[in-house]
Amino acid sequence: MTNGKQHHPNGSCPVYKKCGGCQLQNLSYPEQLRLKQSKVVKLLKGFGRVQPIIGMENPYHYRNKVQAAFYTDRRGKIISGVYQSGSHHVVGVDSCQIEDALADRIIVAVRKLLPSFHLTTYNEDTRRGFLRHVLVKRGFATGEVMLVLVTGTPVFPSKNNFVKAIRAQFPQITTVVQNVNPYRTNLVLGDRETVLYGKGTIEDVLCGCRFRISPRSFYQINPVQTEVLYNKAMEFAALQGSETVIDTYCGIGTIGIVAAKRGAGRVVGVELNPDAVRDAIQNAKANGLNNIRFFQGDAGDFMQDAADEGEQIDVVLMDPPRAGSTPAFMDALLRMAPQTVVYISCNPETLARDLRYLTERSRYRVRQIQPVDMFPHTQHIECVVQLTR
Ligand code: SAH
Repeated sequence: MTNGKQHHPNGSCPVYKKCGGCQLQNLSYPEQLRLKQSKVVKLLKGFGRVQPIIGMENPYHYRNKVQAAFYTDRRGKIISGVYQSGSHHVVGVDSCQIEDALADRIIVAVRKLLPSFHLTTYNEDTRRGFLRHVLVKRGFATGEVMLVLVTGTPVFPSKNNFVKAIRAQFPQITTVVQNVNPYRTNLVLGDRETVLYGKGTIEDVLCGCRFRISPRSFYQINPVQTEVLYNKAMEFAALQGSETVIDTYCGIGTIGIVAAKRGAGRVVGVELNPDAVRDAIQNAKANGLNNIRFFQGDAGDFMQDAADEGEQIDVVLMDPPRAGSTPAFMDALLRMAPQTVVYISCNPETLARDLRYLTERSRYRVRQIQPVDMFPHTQHIECVVQLTR
């Protein structure tokens, strides 16, 4: 299927079943949206009316971050693609309907270059060999492209010539990083990095703000819908110009920085990942903001300290990972009693659990529920919720 409009059960993508990434590909896009809407309604209807989900105009090639695992089969052929769902067998994928097409082409080109440089792929069983994964991140607004070569071993013979060769084919690549991951792990990235070319980071623009992105820091993978999501979050935060705002689970500071630009009096961000915090601090500077500060640490600990100190907070923005928030975080939130809480969630199940926790213990009520389709063709659902006292 190339026109990307029609879908036939299991038919539109050759690796639909084996990949398992696009669980809803057998449904048309409007059907997918209806399914997601009904799922959110089922989980959250007890809290209030669910606004109609905001879908994408063009729900293809929206992913700005693409990664591929590398593997050599018994006949010596190098394969790049995804792990077959539930296994460690790599399924070859050269192009994907939801991934950025340039990123896909770069990954194929890296694969084709390997033999001429006598570079091997890493074998997880023998723990020998070289290339393990390739990760490409692209700033859709800036055009900047980061290529990350994840290797099982640190020695990279003729790395300068390799970088030259890939850049000759793709001048769009603005930085190349080697990440070394020698561990027995499901995580793609290890903890050692060497910049082989360029700055080691890329930039993107969202909601008029500029953001620096590192190989390991979290950045929303669908920038078109991220703007829709953040605009809703700002509408729900209803900033007047003097509020003190906490942006928790803030990643590289995106939401807090947008809030600071859009009239918050003072913003404090908290995030666990040190690379992301470094990016966030840099991002605040690059956007000319001096009313925002970032802290590295557990969001629950941070909230407890802030509540103990009796800090006056007007708005809490929270955007936890799939596992949702914690009782420690939410107890502190209730003690702090901000006027408004904006909860951004990528998992409606933990969202429902946390909303129940908050509303059963306080006079907070859910005022608005807005699903946004950040991940077309997949089962994932994003929501933004406003609570006020
Ligand atoms: N708000 C950001 C990031 C959301 S993703 C954005 O929109 O881009 C969730 C973030 O929570 C990730 O950056 C992750 O590193 C961070 N995180 C996970 N557990 C955490 C914890 N216990 N305390 C603080 N941050 C945490």
